[in-house]
Amino acid sequence: MSELLNEWLGKRFACACGQKHEIPIRRIVIERDALATVVDYVREAGYEEITLVADANTYAVAGNKLRSLLEDGQVKVGTCVIRENEMGEVAADEEAIVQLMLDTSLTSKALIAVGSGTLHDIVRFVSHRTNRPFLSVPTAPSVDGFASVGAPLIVRGFKMTIPCSAPEAIFADLGLLAAAPQAMIAAGVGDMLGKHTSLADWALGRVLLDEHYCELSARLTLEAVELCTTHLEEIAQRSELGMRRLMEGLILSGLSMLLVGHSRPASGAEHHLSHYWEMVLLQQRRRALLHGAKVGVATVLMAQRYQALLGLTADEAAARLAAGQAPSAQTDAERIRAAYGAMAEAIIAENATAMGGDAAALQARIAMHWGDVLSIARAVPPPEQLAAWLAAVQGPVAPDQLGVEPALVEASLQDALFVRNRFTILRLQRLL
Ligand SMILES: [Zn+2]
Ligand SMILES: [Zn+2]
Repeated sequence: MSELLNEWLGKRFACACGQKHEIPIRRIVIERDALATVVDYVREAGYEEITLVADANTYAVAGNKLRSLLEDGQVKVGTCVIRENEMGEVAADEEAIVQLMLDTSLTSKALIAVGSGTLHDIVRFVSHRTNRPFLSVPTAPSVDGFASVGAPLIVRGFKMTIPCSAPEAIFADLGLLAAAPQAMIAAGVGDMLGKHTSLADWALGRVLLDEHYCELSARLTLEAVELCTTHLEEIAQRSELGMRRLMEGLILSGLSMLLVGHSRPASGAEHHLSHYWEMVLLQQRRRALLHGAKVGVATVLMAQRYQALLGLTADEAAARLAAGQAPSAQTDAERIRAAYGAMAEAIIAENATAMGGDAAALQARIAMHWGDVLSIARAVPPPEQLAAWLAAVQGPVAPDQLGVEPALVEASLQDALFVRNRFTILRLQRLL
C-alpha cells in the first residue's frame, strides 16, 4: 500500500470548494512485487472469472506471469491480447474495442488492464460499457490517466474523450516499472511537469472568469508534480524510490482529477497543444507520439508564454488590452473551419459559450487583476528549468526532437486554444 495515497481511498466528503468529492478507488498497491497481490484482491472481491487484457509486449513482460499467478489461485482467466493496427500500433479505436468485447466472456466478472495508457483507455471504456469493474496494472509510469475516468478514444479517425469510470484498484509493480523503456519514464515526467502550466491556467480561469476552483485538488496536483521534481535523480536512475515517487505522483494527479470530476487541474494549454499535434499526426497517418513526451515539450512552450507576461507592467498590459482587437465569433468560426476540417462543427459547438462573449468586459477584468495574473505567472517554473528537468530523464525538450515541424508548432499556437473551451495562457495571450 502507499501511505501517501491511501488516506484518499473510498473517501467521500463535502469540500470547502462547495463540491462533494468522492474517490471510488478501493486499493492502490505500489511495491516491488505488486503483481502477486492482484490475486489476493481478485479472490477477496469474489471474481471467480476475469478477463486479462494486454498487448503483445505487455503480455510478454507481465500478462503471462499474472495469468499463471491467477490460475494458481484458482481464478478462471480469459485473455485478450489487443492486436496492432496497420501502423504497427495499439490504438484505442473501434477495432480494439470490438476485439475486447468479443474476447470478454459473458461470465467474466472483471477486466484487468495490463499495460500503459492506451491499453487502459480500451479497457476503461469496455469495462464501463459492459458494467464490469476493472483493475489497473500499469507496466510503465508514462501517464497520469491510470486513476482517472476519461477514456480518450479514436472514433472514425478522430480523438474524443469519453467519460467512463476509474479502476477499482491499481497495482503498480516497481520492478516492472523500472524495466519500462526510458522514453516512457521520460513521458511520465513530461505529463507531470505539465501540471505547472495546467494549474496556472486553472488559476487564470478562477481569477478572470470565476471558474470553480478547488484548493485541495490544486494542492494535491502540485504535491504530485513536486514528488517527481524532488526525486528526479532517482527517477533518472530508475531506482525503486524513483519509480515509487513517479508513480505516486501520476496516481495522485489522477486522484485530484477524480476529486473535481474533470481534468482541469491536470490539463491546460500544454495538453491542448499536445492534442492538436496528435490530431494532425492522425490525419496525416503518421505514427503516434507518446502523450507525455508531447505534453513535456508543450509545457516548455507554455512556460515561455507565462514568462513573457512577467515583463509587462499593469499599465503596459492595460494599454495593450485597450488597443487589442478581440476576435469576433465569426472570425473564430472561420479559423476553426480552416484548422479543424471535419471536426470543425464539433469544435465550434465546444467553444460556443466562449465565442462572441463580452470580450471588452474580459479585457477590463484582466487589466484590473493584472497583479493576480503576474503572481500566477511567477508560480510557473522558468522554461529553462522545465527543459532541464526533461533533459535529466532524457526526455525530448523541443518540438524538433519530437519530429513536430515548425509549421505545425505555429499552427497549434494559433488554433490549439479551441481544443477545449477552457481559459488558458493561449486565450489570455491573444487578448494582449
Ligand atoms: Zn496528460
Ligand atoms: Zn474541493
